[in-house]
Amino acid sequence: MSSKLNPFEMAQRQFDQVADQLDLSPDNRALLRNPMREFHFQIPVRMDSGELRVFRGYRVQHNDARGPCKGGIRFHPAETIDTVRALATWMTWKCAVSDIPLGGGKGGVICDPSTLSVLEKERLCRGWVGQMWRNIGPRTDVPAPDVGTTPQMMGWMMDEYSKLVGSFTPGVITGKPLGGGGSLFRTPATGFGVIVTVREALKHLGINGKETTCSLQGFGNVSQYAALTYLDMIGGKIVAVSCWDNQDKCSYTFSKKDGIDPKFLQSITDEYGTVNKGRAKEGGYEIEDADAWLAKDVDILVPAAIEGVITGDTVKRISKKVRIVAEGANGPTTPEADEVLKANNVFVIPDFLCNAGGVTCSYFEGVQNDMNFYWAEEEVRTRLDQKMTVAFHKVLEMAKARKVYMRNAAYMVAIDSVVKAMMLRGWV
Ligand code: GLU
Repeated sequence: MSSKLNPFEMAQRQFDQVADQLDLSPDNRALLRNPMREFHFQIPVRMDSGELRVFRGYRVQHNDARGPCKGGIRFHPAETIDTVRALATWMTWKCAVSDIPLGGGKGGVICDPSTLSVLEKERLCRGWVGQMWRNIGPRTDVPAPDVGTTPQMMGWMMDEYSKLVGSFTPGVITGKPLGGGGSLFRTPATGFGVIVTVREALKHLGINGKETTCSLQGFGNVSQYAALTYLDMIGGKIVAVSCWDNQDKCSYTFSKKDGIDPKFLQSITDEYGTVNKGRAKEGGYEIEDADAWLAKDVDILVPAAIEGVITGDTVKRISKKVRIVAEGANGPTTPEADEVLKANNVFVIPDFLCNAGGVTCSYFEGVQNDMNFYWAEEEVRTRLDQKMTVAFHKVLEMAKARKVYMRNAAYMVAIDSVVKAMMLRGWV
Protein backbone atom coordinates (compact mmCIF):
# COMPACT_ATOMS: atom_id res chain seq x y z
CA MET A 1 0.00 0.00 0.00
CA SER A 2 1.26 3.46 -0.85
CA SER A 3 2.26 5.32 2.28
CA LYS A 4 2.31 8.58 0.34
CA LEU A 5 -1.25 8.81 -0.87
CA ASN A 6 -4.26 8.13 1.27
CA PRO A 7 -6.53 5.94 -0.93
CA PHE A 8 -9.67 7.83 0.06
CA GLU A 9 -8.07 11.14 -0.97
CA MET A 10 -7.17 9.42 -4.24
CA ALA A 11 -10.80 8.28 -4.75
CA GLN A 12 -12.03 11.79 -3.97
CA ARG A 13 -9.50 13.38 -6.32
CA GLN A 14 -10.59 11.11 -9.16
CA PHE A 15 -14.24 11.96 -8.41
CA ASP A 16 -13.62 15.73 -8.16
CA GLN A 17 -11.91 15.80 -11.53
CA VAL A 18 -14.89 14.24 -13.25
CA ALA A 19 -17.42 16.17 -11.15
CA ASP A 20 -15.81 19.34 -12.54
CA GLN A 21 -15.95 18.01 -16.11
CA LEU A 22 -19.64 17.12 -15.61
CA ASP A 23 -20.36 20.39 -13.81
CA LEU A 24 -22.04 18.39 -11.05
CA SER A 25 -24.23 20.33 -8.59
CA PRO A 26 -22.94 20.97 -5.04
CA ASP A 27 -25.70 18.71 -3.57
CA ASN A 28 -24.69 15.79 -5.72
CA ARG A 29 -21.04 16.34 -4.86
CA ALA A 30 -21.78 16.53 -1.15
CA LEU A 31 -23.65 13.25 -1.29
CA LEU A 32 -21.15 11.37 -3.42
CA ARG A 33 -17.81 12.61 -2.05
CA ASN A 34 -18.37 10.93 1.32
CA PRO A 35 -19.98 7.68 2.49
CA MET A 36 -23.57 7.78 3.71
CA ARG A 37 -22.83 5.62 6.75
CA GLU A 38 -19.93 3.93 8.46
CA PHE A 39 -19.56 1.46 11.29
CA HIS A 40 -16.44 1.11 13.44
CA PHE A 41 -16.42 -1.67 16.00
CA GLN A 42 -14.41 -4.00 18.21
CA ILE A 43 -14.56 -7.78 17.78
CA PRO A 44 -13.48 -9.77 20.82
CA VAL A 45 -12.21 -13.22 19.82
CA ARG A 46 -11.27 -16.11 22.10
CA MET A 47 -7.98 -17.42 20.69
CA ASP A 48 -7.05 -21.12 20.75
CA SER A 49 -4.62 -20.37 23.59
CA GLY A 50 -7.55 -19.28 25.77
CA GLU A 51 -6.55 -15.62 25.76
CA LEU A 52 -8.87 -12.93 24.40
CA ARG A 53 -7.86 -10.70 21.48
CA VAL A 54 -9.76 -7.66 20.32
CA PHE A 55 -9.83 -6.93 16.59
CA ARG A 56 -10.88 -3.69 14.92
CA GLY A 57 -13.63 -4.01 12.31
CA TYR A 58 -15.27 -1.66 9.82
CA ARG A 59 -18.13 -1.47 7.36
CA VAL A 60 -18.63 1.55 5.13
CA GLN A 61 -21.87 2.03 3.16
CA HIS A 62 -21.02 4.61 0.54
CA ASN A 63 -24.25 4.93 -1.45
CA ASP A 64 -27.41 2.86 -1.87
CA ALA A 65 -29.42 4.96 -4.32
CA ARG A 66 -29.30 2.21 -6.98
CA GLY A 67 -29.93 -0.68 -4.56
CA PRO A 68 -28.53 -2.38 -1.45
CA CYS A 69 -24.87 -1.68 -0.71
CA LYS A 70 -22.54 -4.34 -2.08
CA GLY A 71 -18.87 -5.07 -1.56
CA GLY A 72 -16.31 -7.33 0.02
CA ILE A 73 -14.77 -7.64 3.45
CA ARG A 74 -10.96 -7.48 3.63
CA PHE A 75 -8.86 -9.11 6.32
CA HIS A 76 -5.59 -7.21 6.07
CA PRO A 77 -2.95 -6.17 8.63
CA ALA A 78 -2.63 -2.70 7.07
CA GLU A 79 -6.38 -2.05 6.85
CA THR A 80 -7.46 1.53 7.64
CA ILE A 81 -10.82 3.26 7.65
CA ASP A 82 -9.69 5.39 4.71
CA THR A 83 -8.86 2.33 2.63
CA VAL A 84 -12.30 0.92 3.38
CA ARG A 85 -13.91 4.30 2.51
CA ALA A 86 -12.10 4.39 -0.82
CA LEU A 87 -13.00 0.82 -1.65
CA ALA A 88 -16.66 1.38 -0.70
CA THR A 89 -16.76 4.43 -2.98
CA TRP A 90 -15.27 2.47 -5.88
CA MET A 91 -17.94 -0.23 -5.33
CA THR A 92 -20.67 2.38 -5.95
CA TRP A 93 -19.06 3.21 -9.29
CA LYS A 94 -18.40 -0.46 -10.07
CA CYS A 95 -22.03 -1.52 -9.62
CA ALA A 96 -23.22 1.50 -11.58
CA VAL A 97 -20.84 1.03 -14.51
CA SER A 98 -21.80 -2.66 -14.77
CA ASP A 99 -25.47 -1.73 -14.57
CA ILE A 100 -26.36 -4.05 -11.69
CA PRO A 101 -29.02 -2.75 -9.26
CA LEU A 102 -26.73 -2.36 -6.25
CA GLY A 103 -24.89 0.36 -4.36
CA GLY A 104 -21.41 0.47 -2.86
CA GLY A 105 -20.03 -0.81 0.42
CA LYS A 106 -16.88 -2.35 1.85
CA GLY A 107 -15.77 -3.89 5.11
CA GLY A 108 -12.53 -4.71 6.79
CA VAL A 109 -10.79 -6.16 9.80
CA ILE A 110 -7.26 -5.27 10.87
CA CYS A 111 -5.69 -8.73 11.06
CA ASP A 112 -3.34 -11.10 9.30
CA PRO A 113 -5.54 -14.13 8.52
CA SER A 114 -2.53 -16.30 7.68
CA THR A 115 -1.54 -16.19 11.38
CA LEU A 116 -4.96 -17.39 12.60
CA SER A 117 -6.08 -21.00 13.01
CA VAL A 118 -9.23 -22.20 11.23
CA LEU A 119 -11.25 -21.95 14.43
CA GLU A 120 -9.94 -18.47 15.23
CA LYS A 121 -10.90 -17.34 11.73
CA GLU A 122 -14.37 -18.79 12.19
CA ARG A 123 -14.82 -16.97 15.53
CA LEU A 124 -13.61 -13.72 13.95
CA CYS A 125 -16.06 -14.05 11.04
CA ARG A 126 -18.94 -14.81 13.39
CA GLY A 127 -17.83 -11.88 15.58
CA TRP A 128 -17.90 -9.51 12.58
CA VAL A 129 -21.49 -10.53 11.84
CA GLY A 130 -22.34 -10.28 15.55
CA GLN A 131 -21.44 -6.58 15.37
CA MET A 132 -23.01 -5.83 11.98
CA TRP A 133 -26.07 -8.08 11.55
CA ARG A 134 -28.60 -5.34 12.30
CA ASN A 135 -27.18 -3.25 9.48
CA ILE A 136 -26.65 -5.82 6.73
CA GLY A 137 -29.14 -8.01 4.85
CA PRO A 138 -30.25 -8.95 1.32
CA ARG A 139 -32.15 -5.64 0.97
CA THR A 140 -29.70 -3.49 2.96
CA ASP A 141 -26.05 -4.36 2.45
CA VAL A 142 -24.58 -7.57 1.05
CA PRO A 143 -20.91 -8.35 1.85
CA ALA A 144 -18.63 -10.69 -0.14
CA PRO A 145 -15.02 -11.94 -0.15
CA ASP A 146 -12.05 -9.71 -0.88
CA VAL A 147 -8.33 -9.67 -0.01
CA GLY A 148 -7.71 -12.15 2.85
CA THR A 149 -11.23 -13.62 2.96
CA THR A 150 -12.49 -16.86 1.40
CA PRO A 151 -15.74 -18.60 0.38
CA GLN A 152 -15.58 -20.69 3.58
CA MET A 153 -15.56 -17.48 5.63
CA MET A 154 -18.64 -16.27 3.72
CA GLY A 155 -20.32 -19.57 4.61
CA TRP A 156 -19.70 -19.00 8.35
CA MET A 157 -20.92 -15.42 8.10
CA MET A 158 -24.10 -16.49 6.30
CA ASP A 159 -24.69 -19.14 8.97
CA GLU A 160 -24.20 -16.65 11.82
CA TYR A 161 -26.57 -14.13 10.23
CA SER A 162 -29.21 -16.83 9.57
CA LYS A 163 -29.01 -17.92 13.22
CA LEU A 164 -29.31 -14.37 14.53
CA VAL A 165 -32.34 -13.51 12.39
CA GLY A 166 -33.82 -16.99 12.85
CA SER A 167 -34.28 -17.66 9.15
CA PHE A 168 -32.09 -19.19 6.43
CA THR A 169 -30.85 -16.16 4.49
CA PRO A 170 -28.27 -17.08 1.84
CA GLY A 171 -28.73 -13.72 0.08
CA VAL A 172 -27.11 -11.81 2.97
CA ILE A 173 -23.66 -12.49 1.57
CA THR A 174 -22.17 -13.65 -1.71
CA GLY A 175 -19.06 -15.56 -2.71
CA LYS A 176 -20.33 -18.47 -0.62
CA PRO A 177 -19.03 -22.00 -1.25
CA LEU A 178 -20.77 -24.24 -3.75
CA GLY A 179 -23.42 -26.29 -2.00
CA GLY A 180 -23.72 -23.54 0.63
CA GLY A 181 -25.71 -21.13 -1.54
CA GLY A 182 -22.81 -20.18 -3.81
CA SER A 183 -23.00 -19.73 -7.58
CA LEU A 184 -21.12 -21.75 -10.13
CA PHE A 185 -18.38 -19.68 -11.74
CA ARG A 186 -18.14 -17.17 -8.82
CA THR A 187 -14.54 -18.19 -8.10
CA PRO A 188 -13.11 -17.46 -11.59
CA ALA A 189 -15.54 -14.57 -12.21
CA THR A 190 -13.32 -11.56 -11.43
CA GLY A 191 -10.26 -12.82 -13.32
CA PHE A 192 -12.46 -13.94 -16.20
CA GLY A 193 -14.08 -10.50 -16.37
CA VAL A 194 -10.66 -8.81 -16.40
CA ILE A 195 -9.73 -10.76 -19.52
CA VAL A 196 -13.09 -10.10 -21.23
CA THR A 197 -12.23 -6.39 -20.97
CA VAL A 198 -8.68 -7.09 -22.24
CA ARG A 199 -10.17 -9.01 -25.21
CA GLU A 200 -12.39 -6.04 -26.08
CA ALA A 201 -9.51 -3.58 -25.64
CA LEU A 202 -7.30 -5.64 -27.97
CA LYS A 203 -10.07 -5.64 -30.60
CA HIS A 204 -10.47 -1.89 -30.23
CA LEU A 205 -6.72 -1.31 -30.58
CA GLY A 206 -6.44 -3.76 -33.49
CA ILE A 207 -3.87 -5.97 -31.71
CA ASN A 208 -3.68 -9.72 -32.31
CA GLY A 209 -3.99 -11.24 -28.85
CA LYS A 210 -2.03 -14.37 -29.74
CA GLU A 211 1.07 -12.25 -30.30
CA THR A 212 0.82 -10.45 -26.97
CA THR A 213 2.76 -10.91 -23.77
CA CYS A 214 1.56 -10.15 -20.29
CA SER A 215 2.88 -9.63 -16.75
CA LEU A 216 0.75 -9.73 -13.60
CA GLN A 217 1.03 -8.56 -10.03
CA GLY A 218 -0.48 -10.79 -7.36
CA PHE A 219 -1.44 -14.43 -7.43
CA GLY A 220 -4.63 -14.43 -5.41
CA ASN A 221 -8.07 -15.21 -6.78
CA VAL A 222 -8.18 -12.38 -9.35
CA SER A 223 -4.73 -12.92 -10.79
CA GLN A 224 -4.89 -16.73 -10.91
CA TYR A 225 -8.06 -16.74 -13.00
CA ALA A 226 -6.97 -13.76 -15.08
CA ALA A 227 -3.80 -15.71 -15.95
CA LEU A 228 -5.69 -18.90 -16.81
CA THR A 229 -8.33 -17.04 -18.82
CA TYR A 230 -5.71 -14.97 -20.66
CA LEU A 231 -3.98 -18.16 -21.87
CA ASP A 232 -7.28 -19.75 -22.78
CA MET A 233 -9.19 -16.83 -24.32
CA ILE A 234 -6.41 -14.62 -25.70
CA GLY A 235 -3.65 -17.17 -26.30
CA GLY A 236 -0.65 -14.93 -25.56
CA LYS A 237 2.30 -15.57 -23.23
CA ILE A 238 2.63 -14.63 -19.55
CA VAL A 239 6.24 -13.79 -18.74
CA ALA A 240 6.00 -12.91 -15.05
CA VAL A 241 3.86 -12.93 -11.93
CA SER A 242 4.76 -11.06 -8.78
CA CYS A 243 3.51 -12.21 -5.43
CA TRP A 244 3.95 -12.53 -1.71
CA ASP A 245 6.06 -15.31 -0.17
CA ASN A 246 4.62 -15.91 3.25
CA GLN A 247 7.71 -17.73 4.47
CA ASP A 248 10.13 -14.92 3.60
CA LYS A 249 7.51 -12.23 4.37
CA CYS A 250 8.22 -10.33 1.16
CA SER A 251 7.19 -10.30 -2.49
CA TYR A 252 9.13 -11.62 -5.46
CA THR A 253 8.60 -11.69 -9.19
CA PHE A 254 8.52 -15.22 -10.61
CA SER A 255 9.37 -15.25 -14.29
CA LYS A 256 10.06 -17.62 -17.13
CA LYS A 257 11.15 -16.64 -20.65
CA ASP A 258 9.07 -19.31 -22.40
CA GLY A 259 6.04 -18.37 -20.31
CA ILE A 260 4.88 -19.15 -16.79
CA ASP A 261 2.43 -21.95 -16.09
CA PRO A 262 -0.37 -20.67 -13.81
CA LYS A 263 -1.51 -24.23 -13.07
CA PHE A 264 1.94 -25.11 -11.70
CA LEU A 265 2.03 -21.90 -9.63
CA GLN A 266 -1.46 -22.67 -8.32
CA SER A 267 -0.18 -26.05 -7.16
CA ILE A 268 2.40 -24.31 -4.93
CA THR A 269 0.14 -21.48 -3.73
CA ASP A 270 -1.74 -21.31 -0.44
CA GLU A 271 -5.32 -20.09 -0.04
CA TYR A 272 -4.17 -16.44 0.17
CA GLY A 273 -2.25 -16.60 -3.10
CA THR A 274 1.24 -16.68 -1.60
CA VAL A 275 3.82 -18.63 -3.57
CA ASN A 276 6.83 -20.32 -1.98
CA LYS A 277 10.14 -19.15 -3.51
CA GLY A 278 11.99 -22.42 -2.96
CA ARG A 279 9.36 -24.47 -4.71
CA ALA A 280 9.13 -21.97 -7.59
CA LYS A 281 12.91 -22.25 -8.04
CA GLU A 282 12.66 -26.03 -8.19
CA GLY A 283 10.02 -25.56 -10.91
CA GLY A 284 12.56 -23.67 -13.05
CA TYR A 285 11.40 -20.12 -12.25
CA GLU A 286 13.71 -17.15 -12.13
CA ILE A 287 13.24 -15.14 -8.92
CA GLU A 288 13.47 -11.36 -9.22
CA ASP A 289 12.67 -8.40 -7.00
CA ALA A 290 9.05 -7.56 -6.13
CA ASP A 291 8.70 -4.71 -8.66
CA ALA A 292 10.32 -6.52 -11.61
CA TRP A 293 6.86 -7.54 -12.96
CA LEU A 294 6.17 -3.88 -13.71
CA ALA A 295 9.32 -3.33 -15.76
CA LYS A 296 8.86 -6.26 -18.15
CA ASP A 297 8.84 -5.63 -21.90
CA VAL A 298 5.26 -6.77 -22.35
CA ASP A 299 2.11 -5.58 -24.13
CA ILE A 300 -0.24 -5.99 -21.19
CA LEU A 301 0.24 -5.26 -17.48
CA VAL A 302 -2.29 -6.58 -15.00
CA PRO A 303 -1.90 -5.15 -11.49
CA ALA A 304 -4.15 -7.57 -9.57
CA ALA A 305 -3.01 -7.29 -5.96
CA ILE A 306 -3.65 -4.15 -3.90
CA GLU A 307 -4.03 -0.39 -4.23
CA GLY A 308 -1.37 2.24 -4.85
CA VAL A 309 1.28 0.19 -6.73
CA ILE A 310 1.63 2.23 -9.93
CA THR A 311 2.76 5.55 -8.49
CA GLY A 312 4.51 8.67 -9.77
CA ASP A 313 7.78 6.81 -9.05
CA THR A 314 7.10 3.26 -10.21
CA VAL A 315 5.34 4.37 -13.41
CA LYS A 316 8.80 5.38 -14.73
CA ARG A 317 9.80 1.72 -14.73
CA ILE A 318 7.00 0.70 -17.10
CA SER A 319 8.30 -0.30 -20.54
CA LYS A 320 7.39 1.80 -23.59
CA LYS A 321 6.13 -1.44 -25.16
CA VAL A 322 3.15 -1.62 -22.79
CA ARG A 323 -0.14 -0.89 -24.62
CA ILE A 324 -2.71 -1.94 -22.03
CA VAL A 325 -2.91 -1.68 -18.24
CA ALA A 326 -5.83 -3.83 -17.03
CA GLU A 327 -6.56 -2.97 -13.40
CA GLY A 328 -7.58 -6.24 -11.76
CA ALA A 329 -6.96 -4.69 -8.32
CA ASN A 330 -8.94 -1.82 -6.83
CA GLY A 331 -7.09 1.50 -6.98
CA PRO A 332 -3.67 0.29 -8.22
CA THR A 333 -2.83 3.54 -10.07
CA THR A 334 -2.37 6.91 -8.38
CA PRO A 335 -3.51 10.14 -10.10
CA GLU A 336 0.18 11.11 -10.73
CA ALA A 337 0.81 7.82 -12.51
CA ASP A 338 -2.42 8.25 -14.48
CA GLU A 339 -1.03 11.46 -15.98
CA VAL A 340 2.07 9.61 -17.21
CA LEU A 341 0.09 6.67 -18.63
CA LYS A 342 -2.24 9.11 -20.37
CA ALA A 343 0.71 11.03 -21.87
CA ASN A 344 2.30 7.75 -23.05
CA ASN A 345 -0.95 6.74 -24.75
CA VAL A 346 -1.35 3.59 -22.67
CA PHE A 347 -4.89 2.20 -22.82
CA VAL A 348 -5.97 1.89 -19.18
CA ILE A 349 -8.95 -0.33 -18.34
CA PRO A 350 -9.94 1.29 -15.04
CA ASP A 351 -10.39 -0.87 -11.94
CA PHE A 352 -14.08 -0.49 -11.35
CA LEU A 353 -14.78 -1.52 -14.95
CA CYS A 354 -12.00 -4.09 -15.33
CA ASN A 355 -12.62 -6.07 -12.13
CA ALA A 356 -16.43 -5.77 -12.09
CA GLY A 357 -16.82 -9.46 -13.00
CA GLY A 358 -16.70 -10.47 -9.33
CA VAL A 359 -19.51 -8.28 -8.15
CA THR A 360 -21.53 -8.96 -11.30
CA CYS A 361 -21.35 -12.67 -10.55
CA SER A 362 -22.18 -11.88 -6.91
CA TYR A 363 -25.30 -10.17 -8.19
CA PHE A 364 -26.15 -13.34 -10.15
CA GLU A 365 -25.55 -15.33 -6.96
CA GLY A 366 -27.99 -13.11 -5.05
CA VAL A 367 -30.59 -13.48 -7.82
CA GLN A 368 -30.24 -17.28 -7.64
CA ASN A 369 -30.53 -17.16 -3.82
CA ASP A 370 -33.71 -15.07 -4.10
CA MET A 371 -35.24 -17.47 -6.64
CA ASN A 372 -33.88 -20.54 -4.83
CA PHE A 373 -33.09 -21.81 -8.32
CA TYR A 374 -29.50 -22.31 -9.44
CA TRP A 375 -28.10 -21.81 -12.94
CA ALA A 376 -25.74 -24.03 -14.93
CA GLU A 377 -22.12 -22.82 -15.14
CA GLU A 378 -22.43 -21.99 -18.83
CA GLU A 379 -25.39 -19.72 -18.15
CA VAL A 380 -23.45 -17.74 -15.53
CA ARG A 381 -20.39 -17.50 -17.80
CA THR A 382 -22.37 -16.34 -20.83
CA ARG A 383 -24.34 -13.74 -18.88
CA LEU A 384 -21.12 -12.47 -17.27
CA ASP A 385 -19.34 -12.17 -20.62
CA GLN A 386 -22.31 -10.20 -21.99
CA LYS A 387 -22.50 -7.81 -19.02
CA MET A 388 -18.74 -7.12 -19.06
CA THR A 389 -18.70 -6.59 -22.82
CA VAL A 390 -21.61 -4.16 -22.71
CA ALA A 391 -20.04 -2.24 -19.79
CA PHE A 392 -16.69 -1.99 -21.59
CA HIS A 393 -18.27 -0.58 -24.76
CA LYS A 394 -20.45 1.88 -22.86
CA VAL A 395 -17.31 3.33 -21.30
CA LEU A 396 -15.37 3.24 -24.58
CA GLU A 397 -18.20 5.09 -26.35
CA MET A 398 -18.19 7.72 -23.61
CA ALA A 399 -14.40 8.06 -23.89
CA LYS A 400 -14.69 8.59 -27.64
CA ALA A 401 -17.69 10.92 -27.46
CA ARG A 402 -16.18 13.18 -24.77
CA LYS A 403 -12.55 12.63 -25.83
CA VAL A 404 -11.54 11.67 -22.30
CA TYR A 405 -9.28 9.11 -20.62
CA MET A 406 -10.95 5.72 -20.01
CA ARG A 407 -10.98 6.22 -16.21
CA ASN A 408 -12.78 9.53 -16.55
CA ALA A 409 -15.22 8.00 -19.04
CA ALA A 410 -15.99 5.18 -16.58
CA TYR A 411 -16.60 7.78 -13.85
CA MET A 412 -18.92 9.69 -16.19
CA VAL A 413 -21.03 6.60 -16.95
CA ALA A 414 -21.17 5.65 -13.26
CA ILE A 415 -21.85 9.12 -11.84
CA ASP A 416 -24.62 9.73 -14.41
CA SER A 417 -26.33 6.53 -13.35
CA VAL A 418 -26.07 7.17 -9.58
CA VAL A 419 -27.18 10.80 -9.91
CA LYS A 420 -30.16 9.71 -11.99
CA ALA A 421 -31.19 7.19 -9.30
CA MET A 422 -30.80 9.83 -6.57
CA MET A 423 -32.98 12.23 -8.57
CA LEU A 424 -35.63 9.59 -9.24
CA ARG A 425 -35.77 8.88 -5.52
CA GLY A 426 -36.05 12.58 -4.73
CA TRP A 427 -32.77 12.85 -2.84
CA VAL A 428 -31.44 15.76 -4.88
N1 GLU B 1 -14.52 -7.81 -3.46
C1 GLU B 1 -14.93 -7.81 -4.84
C2 GLU B 1 -14.79 -6.42 -5.44
O1 GLU B 1 -14.03 -5.60 -4.99
C3 GLU B 1 -16.30 -8.40 -5.01
C4 GLU B 1 -17.38 -7.67 -4.30
C5 GLU B 1 -18.71 -8.39 -4.30
O2 GLU B 1 -18.81 -9.44 -4.89
O3 GLU B 1 -19.62 -7.86 -3.67
O4 GLU B 1 -15.36 -6.12 -6.45
